[in-house]
This record gives sequence, C-alpha cells and structure tokens, in this order.
Amino acid sequence: MPKWSNWSGRLSSQPDSYQQIYTERQASALAAQCRQQGKVIRAVGAGHSHQDLVGNDGVIVDLVGLAGVHSTRQNSAWVWAGSRIHTLGLALNQHGLALPNQGDIDRQAIAGATATGTHGTGATLSNLSSRVIGACIALADGSLVECSKDSDDPALRRLWQASRLHLGAFGIITRLQLELVPSYRLQEQTWQAPLLQTLDNLPALINDNRHCEFFWYPHTDTAQVKIINPTEAPPAYPLAAEGARCGWSFEVLPNHRPHKHTEMEYSVPADRGPECMRAIKRLLEQAFQHVRWPVEYRTLAADDVWMSTAYQQDMVTISVHQAIDEPDEPYYRACEEIFTSYGGKPHWGKVNYLDGSQLASLHPRWNDWWQERDRVDPSGVFLNPYLQSIRP
Ligand SMILES: Cc1cc2nc3c(=O)[nH]c(=O)nc-3n(C[C@H](O)[C@H](O)[C@H](O)COP(=O)(O)OP(=O)(O)OC[C@H]3O[C@@H](n4cnc5c(N)ncnc54)[C@H](O)[C@@H]3O)c2cc1C
Repeated sequence: MPKWSNWSGRLSSQPDSYQQIYTERQASALAAQCRQQGKVIRAVGAGHSHQDLVGNDGVIVDLVGLAGVHSTRQNSAWVWAGSRIHTLGLALNQHGLALPNQGDIDRQAIAGATATGTHGTGATLSNLSSRVIGACIALADGSLVECSKDSDDPALRRLWQASRLHLGAFGIITRLQLELVPSYRLQEQTWQAPLLQTLDNLPALINDNRHCEFFWYPHTDTAQVKIINPTEAPPAYPLAAEGARCGWSFEVLPNHRPHKHTEMEYSVPADRGPECMRAIKRLLEQAFQHVRWPVEYRTLAADDVWMSTAYQQDMVTISVHQAIDEPDEPYYRACEEIFTSYGGKPHWGKVNYLDGSQLASLHPRWNDWWQERDRVDPSGVFLNPYLQSIRP
C-alpha cells in the first residue's frame, strides 16, 4: 500500500492508490471512476498543510506533472494547478507579470495554496485565493467545468466564487486563472527592536510600507522586523541574504525554511492585533517557558472570498510554531483560547481544534459554501475524514 505523509511528517495516510496525473482527461476519468467505485479522492499539492486536508484511505492524486503557464493576457494568466509557486515567478516575469503577493515560502502548488487562503504580508494585499478569477475543475460526475467571475451562467459564477478557497472539496482543480500585476522589483530591510517598542510603532510601519512583518523570539525582548518596498533599482545579483535582498518580487518575497515544525495561525481583526500579541507574550512568559520557536505577526487585507479568514475585514495574522519532536497541543490549545477570545479565525492549512459548529460561527458564508460544494459532489467523493468531521 502506498504511504503518504505531509511536509512535517506529522500527518500520514495509506490510501489504496497514489496516482500521478499529467492531463485534464486523466483528472476527469479518475474523478468519475472514484465516484463509481464509491472511493474518496483527494488531490495533493506540495503537502505543506499542517491540517489533515489530504489523508484518506481511497485515492490521493498528485498533479505535479500538470504544471506551467497555460496562457497569459493583460494582467491575468491561466496556470496549471500543479505548478509549484517557485516555478511560476520567472515564467510569468517573461510575460511581464507577477503575483501581487506571495507567502513566506514558495514551495506550495498554486492550487494547494489557494485551497487554504495562503497569504503573505501587506496591509493592502489580500490572500492568493482572492486572486483566483477562474478555475477549471474535474467534477465527481466526470465532467470538466470551466467557471469564472465572467461566466454568463450564474451557476458557474457561483461555483467560481465558492471554489476560490476550495479546501480540495469541489473536485480536482486542473487550471486556475489568476489576477496578476505588472512585474515589479522589491527591496527588503530588516532590523531588531524591542517588541513593545515595535508594537507601539506598528501603525506607521504597516501604513508606510508595502510589506511589514515581525518575528518575536519568546523569552527575549527582541523582535526581528522586516519591511519590503517597491524599487526602481535593478536586481543586485547575487542576491544578498534574507533581509537585504533587492530583486524581482518572486526573488525577494519567499524565504528558505528548512527546519521542520508544526504551526497554528489565527487571523484576528486588525485593530485587535497588538493587544492579542501582548496576550500571547504573557502566555508564553507565564506558562510555556520551554517554547523557543518564534511568533510571527503579519497583515492581511480584506477580500470577498467566502471561506477566507479576511472575508470583508482587514486582519492581522499571528502564528505560533513548535518543533515536530516536541509536544505542541497544550501550547496550541492555550493560544487558541486567546485567539478565539479576540475574534480570531484559524488558517485552513494549519493546526486548529475547532469543530464544525465553531467554524460555522466564524464564517458568514459557511452554508453557501457547503451548499455549492454539495451540489457538485452530492455523494461526498471529495470529502476526507477531516472534512466529513466539520461538515454541517
Ligand atoms: C514551511 C511552511 C511555510 C508556510 N508559509 C505560509 C505562509 O507564508 N502563508 C500562508 O498562508 N501559509 C503558509 N503555509 C501553509 C501553506 O501555504 C498551506 O497549507 C498551503 O495550502 C499548502 O499548499 P500545498 O501545495 O502544500 O497543498 P497541500 O497541503 O498538499 O494541500 C492543501 C489542500 O489543497 C488541496 N489541493 C491541492 N491541489 C489540488 C488540486 N489540484 N485540486 C484540488 N485540490 C487540491 C488538497 O486536497 C488540500 O485540501 C506554510 C506551510 C509551511 C509548511
């Protein structure tokens, strides 16, 4: 039996079969076969989620071979769903295009990243799901459907809207149409400052810079602050180390994060971020002196994506981490209590302990999303045990 495990190695499963696909026809045929045989099927991207979104005992389908830029237009492109984000940077740049923002790493598949609302930092910059303006999906009935914000058929527009943040639950996404911007260059800067001083200066830091974030190292006074801004300067090669790079956006935004860890991240309303951060600091000082992994603070602009943690509200995101060989649950549960008390919503690809009714109470479009999902997959072919556990 094939064995699959995620990036951190914390999650694993033994599906009946692990299939690699290279064409849209293969995707449709596989989806139809799974439905006929009553098997669960889940697509996998780069396996970088800390939540069990992929594991199941049926089929895991890997689209690593369905990758690359399909076609471009002015300020948009269709890309194959299995494309790793790091392979899209240069390919889009050759057409004068770029993603408006990226996350902290670029190893994810594009359809894996949009599945969970993956985001970077920037008070005016929304998550990657919000950049999805069209999708091609192999549905459970074996059809291959293209839907977009411009579809004439309202049913297709609704499918597009629901599946922008899709959690792998609508079908096998084979292609995505992304809203892009003209390619741009960035310069980053980093420095250390006392945490409380950083929190006091935060409004200016956030407003005056395209990207701003900081890492706070528990049991120290120090925050590592990073700002990144557009520049007209040419790329400086070889690129400097993280913190001083000057180059194209896709060269400056992602970082190298080789150390295996687990992570919990909550988005909290932007105006409550500093207060929530102070509460997390107090928790670490009082009850978790052994935790050494940093706490990360970023900003995330409001969007109109149904299951987004930033649906109609500007947020900040606060992430806590722990090494994979150390206990994390008591720490994460204590953090979760604080995050939820500040109106927080968990990142879909990271650890959380909420049940379906708690998640429903945080997402105003929860029922709409499930209704649309159930319409295209009434028998639940694309639901694994985790999704079944939170289903209304
Ligand atoms: C080191 C590290 C750094 C990270 N940094 C960030 C960050 O900066 N910002 C952030 O927001 N998150 C971050 N994450 C979380 C990560 O971006 C998300 O969990 C993302 O969803 C992972 O993408 P993936 O390609 O690995 O997808 P997977 O984890 O493999 O899958 C995620 C979901 O996508 C679905 N899926 C994948 N491909 C398809 C497809 N073709 N069709 C249908 N469904 C599909 C899967 O079924 C699953 O539901 C980080 C994670 C790690 C481990």
